[in-house]
Amino acid sequence: MRKKRDLTVKGCPCCNNNKLYYLFSIRDTHRVVMCQDCGLLLLNPQPSDEELDAIYGPEYFLGNSLENGTDHQSRLKQATAVNYLNLLGRYRGASGGELLEVGPGQGDFLAAAASQGYNVTGLEYSSSACDVIKSNLQGQGRVICGEIDQLSDEQEKYDVCILSDVIEHTRDPRYFLHNIHRLLKPGGLFLPLPPARIPGRPN
Ligand SMILES: [Zn+2]
Repeated sequence: MRKKRDLTVKGCPCCNNNKLYYLFSIRDTHRVVMCQDCGLLLLNPQPSDEELDAIYGPEYFLGNSLENGTDHQSRLKQATAVNYLNLLGRYRGASGGELLEVGPGQGDFLAAAASQGYNVTGLEYSSSACDVIKSNLQGQGRVICGEIDQLSDEQEKYDVCILSDVIEHTRDPRYFLHNIHRLLKPGGLFLPLPPARIPGRPN
């Protein structure tokens, strides 16, 4: 019989402090604790892989059951993406290069980046989202279904890595950021973005 994985967090994943205090529970099942040192809030124990698979299914993305919502959301996200890409281009003094987005949702940012001349790669955990991204990219760039530590840095490195509304979903933010650093070219740019605000939807 397979031993059940212990998902209890013993120390803060950001600062390693081992004093985690119970704050409250969500629906009596998910305990939220706070790190005494840096103030990070996290679920303890962490959700299992099976629970995460259930959460990040097709219904996770707003609009999968609301066709009108999908179009409207996509237009808003593409406008936001163009704004950030313009800022990025001004900062770098150039457009184009290898761009990685981790957790690209439905691929709106990647599609906008591809249209500005970037070679885009999307890394996505959810296989249902990977299908949507491939469809949105219409053959441009590539979509890898998996997790960040599965990406090799031997052949490919990136000029820009984008994250939007991703880091709070990771089990180990320090390990995640270590992998981002590993995948960037020397002088590469890491751009963590706040989530796009969708009117009427809590973030
Ligand atoms: Zn901490």
